[in-house]
Amino acid sequence: MVDAFLPALSAEQAQEIIQQQGDITDQRREAIRRFLMETPSQSQAFRETLDDALKNRLTEKGCGDVKQFVDILNYSIPAFLLTGSTTPFASLSPEQAETTIQQLYNSRIPTIRFGIKTVGGILRALYLRSEPLVSQAVGFPGLPAVPEEQQKRADSPADRFKARREAFFARGKTERRAEGDVLVWETNVLVIGTGSGATSLVGSLAKELEGSHQPGTNTQHPSIIMLEKGDYFAPHELEKTENDSFKRMYEGAGVLGSEEGAISIFAGATVGGGSKINWSATLQTDRKVRAEWTKLTAVGGKDAKRLSQGGSGEEEEAFRTMFLGKEWQDCMDEVCKILHVKTPEEQDHNVGNLTLLEGARRLGYVCKPVPQNITGTFAAHKECGASCTAGCRGSGEADDKKTGRSGKMSGERAFLDEYLQLDPESGGATRGGVTVEIMDKFEVDRVVFEQGSSARASGAVKKAVGVVGTVKGSDGVSYKAFIKANRVVVAAGTLNSPCVLLRSGLKNPTIGKNLYLHPTCIVLSEWDTEVRPWEGNILTTVINEFSDLDGQGHGVKLEGMDMLPGISMSFAPWNSGAEYKSRLLRYPHTQGHIVLCREKNPGRVRVDAKTGKLLIDYTPSVLDRKHLLEGILEMCKVLYTMGAKEISTATAGAPTWRRDDTAASANQQKRPADGWAADPRFLEFLAALNARGLPLDLATFGSAHQMGTCRMGSSPSHSVVDQRGRVWGCEGLYVADASVFPSASGVNPMLTTMAFGRWIGRRLAEEVKLESGLSIRKDVNSKL
Ligand SMILES: Cc1cc2nc3c(=O)[nH]c(=O)nc-3n(C[C@H](O)[C@H](O)[C@H](O)COP(=O)(O)OP(=O)(O)OC[C@H]3O[C@@H](n4cnc5c(N)ncnc54)[C@H](O)[C@@H]3O)c2cc1C
Repeated sequence: MVDAFLPALSAEQAQEIIQQQGDITDQRREAIRRFLMETPSQSQAFRETLDDALKNRLTEKGCGDVKQFVDILNYSIPAFLLTGSTTPFASLSPEQAETTIQQLYNSRIPTIRFGIKTVGGILRALYLRSEPLVSQAVGFPGLPAVPEEQQKRADSPADRFKARREAFFARGKTERRAEGDVLVWETNVLVIGTGSGATSLVGSLAKELEGSHQPGTNTQHPSIIMLEKGDYFAPHELEKTENDSFKRMYEGAGVLGSEEGAISIFAGATVGGGSKINWSATLQTDRKVRAEWTKLTAVGGKDAKRLSQGGSGEEEEAFRTMFLGKEWQDCMDEVCKILHVKTPEEQDHNVGNLTLLEGARRLGYVCKPVPQNITGTFAAHKECGASCTAGCRGSGEADDKKTGRSGKMSGERAFLDEYLQLDPESGGATRGGVTVEIMDKFEVDRVVFEQGSSARASGAVKKAVGVVGTVKGSDGVSYKAFIKANRVVVAAGTLNSPCVLLRSGLKNPTIGKNLYLHPTCIVLSEWDTEVRPWEGNILTTVINEFSDLDGQGHGVKLEGMDMLPGISMSFAPWNSGAEYKSRLLRYPHTQGHIVLCREKNPGRVRVDAKTGKLLIDYTPSVLDRKHLLEGILEMCKVLYTMGAKEISTATAGAPTWRRDDTAASANQQKRPADGWAADPRFLEFLAALNARGLPLDLATFGSAHQMGTCRMGSSPSHSVVDQRGRVWGCEGLYVADASVFPSASGVNPMLTTMAFGRWIGRRLAEEVKLESGLSIRKDVNSKL
């Protein structure tokens, strides 16, 4: 089937396309020739990636659905009913197979259209990102290498980290138990996850606890252990290809979707979490959203259930004070300082972002530059822009004169390496008497409890005493592990934190609900000039004009996007194999933009009853799709206004706009700033796009922002954690990541997540200090 999407072209067809490429190197010409004349099934890299996705990455239902769809086409009767031919799909000639696919996209049966959209999308994306020939053919220069000087640095964080990991491992004691040998460690505070929430929490916790060990007294050196199921990567260890980066740094190897197949989901799964592979946009939580959160977190003062569970009017006031008060703002500002956040000047934007900025200005739309968490100058990021998605190859040092490189301040760099400045003498693990250790390749299964004393008015019934999971040793062997801890913080991200709680036997029905994803659609555009989409910072502008389309704060933002060729070009419209292949070659002339929706209607996360694995239920709602469509139409106007040659969306069968350079419309279209509204052809295109809509069976949705599945609130009747991040009904158990958001943040969520991490970390420090008889801060104003 994949060969029908990307068929082998004849030598003549290939020659014709090569001649259109202009002045290119012999090497690229040869790569193009092979790309055009070969098929995906000849690619070993693609076959392995597809095999891995089918065996290990898609959920049982996802995999079953894909197989069922392909099987149906290979039975004569269903094939006849669907295509009018009894020949099984596998026996069709390449030309017949291509025609059949075109028919399936236009089938009268919505499930068939949905099937071909989904299967086609997966196959194209996996091929484009896995086959090395694609990058060479489309002209992508590749992910930048890390300078040699940096690779040789003896004191690199990676070397220190590895030494620490070995030492950590060696400290584990083997205990013989009924279920076999278990490695055991102990700590004061255990944090599950190393992403945005976790690193920010640990930064503030360790800073607050600094110096709390008092020699000659009973106080202990506080110790914090962070566990990460993914791997640690120093810059010079990062993968060299898009495919390997997705495989090793993303949840589900970057092949993750909702059970309904309605949306693809991207999340980091490596030390640093999402902050390690994200696009550096650092936006503060909007005040309107914060105001909404004061309402969502608190329930009405007379709510009988809440009162019976120990709530009081004071808590509602506390949430107002939290989200609209000074300390929350301070948390965001302090995090921004730690992340070296700076705002780009006009000359610092890449072409795609300048298109938004200038297009919005011409149309009178509200558009703002987006602050970035990077060190060094914006110019230093020119060459490495798109690689952010595969991990930052810069050194992360503001004054790295040796390499001239700057870097993205991901969580582990900003909070652990730089803010805490862990002491190199101790192997980089202590600071002011506090020990912080990270253990990668450690997947937590569940939290372990013992019956607890009632510490709170709400009546905690369980006390967290540690976690169990699996850790991989440097010998490659997996060991069962148990880490005893006085306190456990779950910061495994919105998708996994609820799974950890559910696997631990917690029954609060709100766990896993309220999954917000910021569903996103993509618009691609082609330009006369080479725009080199891999260059410069990825997301430095945002059009906010349409962020409140229903008067209740739901709507869309228009933003720049990463343009690694595999993932971005898989969204190019497919009408036929030859046209698609030829379109991919115009990658250097292509810009991509996203329309991101602050949705009204959430989904849910569950665990598979048999395997305990993550399952995601999410389908973009009618209202949210309406908003996305409105955003797409506006994005098209911006691109038209800036003179795009071609505009396409990722909805199958939707029209593509092509500028008509013939004399008839030349006057109007050569000066697009004169106005989209005066161009009848463009108006027709908008009307057709609008009529096509965003039906689930044809449109493509993605998400890189997950929020809300362990919502914060004033009562267990509608939330999972209280205002201090404590899990209702448990002692010593906290959640501190994007899952505690009361609803979608609207803005890209890293900074908000880190603000929550800081807020909860400070309060956790107070509890640790109080228990040890140490003095506590005066400016933390919520009740213990
Ligand atoms: C491609 C991409 C681009 C993005 N761009 C931006 C941007 O420009 N700006 C922005 O604000 N946001 C951006 N985001 C979103 C942002 O990075 C996330 O919202 C944020 O990192 C979420 O933080 P978190 O702490 O909730 O989870 P994460 O940062 O995802 O961290 C959770 C960590 O927990 C680990 N984990 C999970 N389960 C277990 C377990 N059982 N045991 C041990 N470890 C576990 C995971 O592997 C992961 O590393 C982007 C995200 C992606 C994927």
